[in-house]
Formats: sequence, C-alpha cells, structure tokens
Amino acid sequence: MDSKLTFLGTGAAWALPELNCPCAICANMRAKGERRTRTALLLEADYTLLVDCGPDILAQLETNKIKKIDAVLITHEHGDHYIGLDELFVFKRNQPRGRFKPIAVFMTPQSWEVIRTRFDYLRTMGVIEPRMVHPFRWFESGPFAIYPFKTDHGTFAKGSVGYLIKMPASGGGQKSVLYTSDFKNLPDIPDEIKRPDLLVIQSFWFNEPKENRPSHMSFQRALQFIEALDPVEETFLVHMGDADMVPGDPHNSMAKKYEPLNPLAPPGSNTPYPIPLDHDQWNEILQKVLSDYRLLHEVRVARDGLSVPL
Ligand SMILES: [Zn+2]
Ligand SMILES: [Zn+2]
Repeated sequence: MDSKLTFLGTGAAWALPELNCPCAICANMRAKGERRTRTALLLEADYTLLVDCGPDILAQLETNKIKKIDAVLITHEHGDHYIGLDELFVFKRNQPRGRFKPIAVFMTPQSWEVIRTRFDYLRTMGVIEPRMVHPFRWFESGPFAIYPFKTDHGTFAKGSVGYLIKMPASGGGQKSVLYTSDFKNLPDIPDEIKRPDLLVIQSFWFNEPKENRPSHMSFQRALQFIEALDPVEETFLVHMGDADMVPGDPHNSMAKKYEPLNPLAPPGSNTPYPIPLDHDQWNEILQKVLSDYRLLHEVRVARDGLSVPL
C-alpha cells in the first residue's frame, strides 16, 4: 500500500497571486509563474480522504488525477473551505444508476448549520451524507481514526476544528497527521494532538499583525505552536497569504495589508527579516529563522501538488 499526503492547494482564501493585485508579493509570484490555489489536503491509504473542499477543488482533483473520494473532512464554514462541495456531484453522475453511495462529509453541527443553507440539496439528492463530529471525540472513517479538536478562528467561524488523523503507513504501522487549519489560537492543547508525525499549520502572514482581525495564524506565532505541538518528523506551512506589508511597496495601503506588531528579527537585532515574496524566498528565510533561533524542528513551505509519502 502506498500511503501519502498530497497538498492539493496551499493558498489563502482568494488564492495567490490575487486577481489583478499589483502588490510586491503577487507581482513577484506572477513574474515567476507561481500559483497557490485554495488550501486543501488529500490523504490516501487505499482509502481517499479529502480535507476541505474549496472553490478550486475541480481543477485540483483533475491536476492530481484523483479517481475517487471516500470521505471529506470540513474544518469550518468559510467559503474557501467548503464552497466546492457541489463538484462532488460528478462522482455520482458517472456511476451506473443506483450504484453510488453518498460521500460522508464530516463537520461540526455549527459548520453544518451554515453549510446546509446552501448545500442541503446535496444531501437530499444523495451526493453527500453529512456526519456530525464533536471536538475531542474520536471517530472512524474507513481505516482512518480521526480526532477533531476545537480551534479559535473568530466569531464568524464558530464551528472551526482542526483534525488529528491516524492512518495506515506504507511500511506497516500508523502515521499521524495534525492539521490545525485556519486559527488564531487553540483554546486547549489536549495530549492527543501532541507529537504527531507530521504537522500542517497555517502561515497566513510572515509577521503577526498589530491587529489580527481575520483570526489567522502568522509564521511568527506558528513557531510557538510548532514547539508546543512538537511534531516528530516534519512541519508543513500552508494557507499562505499576501497580507504582509513589504517595506517600500507603494501598495501597502491596500485594505488587505496588515501592519506588523513586532516584526520577526534575528536574535539581538533590530533589523527584521525580509518578507518572503515567493516559494524559494519563504523556504530560504524560514531556514534562516530556524537556525538563528536554534529551533530543531524540520519545517518546509508546502506547494501545490507536493506529495509526501507516509
Ligand atoms: Zn481559509
Ligand atoms: Zn477561515
């Protein structure tokens, strides 16, 4: 069996580069031909589990040649995480009549309360089977054991959870993947979610902003969560945004740009690290931060289409 984690998308809510955006980050990514579609993960172990289903899902499934989806985990009721659910209809349409079984879609009751206002017809037409999950209560889906945990992602996403997923590993035994999704804080860090094999964590900004209105995680603050959650093998950064102000960029006045609170700088220095403008710069600067601060964890920025064997 080949078990793996694939990053279908690694971008923030409006993808990167953003439409028509001339800011330093988007302009640089555009010049390099880089693109980050909306963040979604796929876990495979003879059973295919999709984590989040945003507006790019159709293209993501096509690009990665995904033939089937056995179940879906939804982390919260924001469009970039669920608005692609209607695309799952194709899996029913292309089966002989009567053979298709609705795809189990796991989420909290608070998330379903919002999602059902738009997609209840997918339930009545037998495309999806909504399944309610509760924070800190294990459940199973095929060979996967899954533990949802409460995350704080602000008042507009009350149903937000992260998931710890234990799955069969390629070489026998199990591997665990911890996905915190969009969050500002973890109200509680239960022992169950510490020491996962892999951690997937949001890095919406490089620097924590003065005012964290959208309730997201910055790389600067994610470092503390990486230390606290202490993954055994590796950490991947996802849900990358373009909301950092880049010194000297005339587009820093845009509504989406956030002033940093106390920009990350090397120990004992007042000169902040540069804001990474693309994938290579992200990895380069991040490795420098890890070594300057003597942090021992392995951390990489994920990119669309990256597959990690498990
Ligand atoms: Zn999001
Ligand atoms: Zn969100």
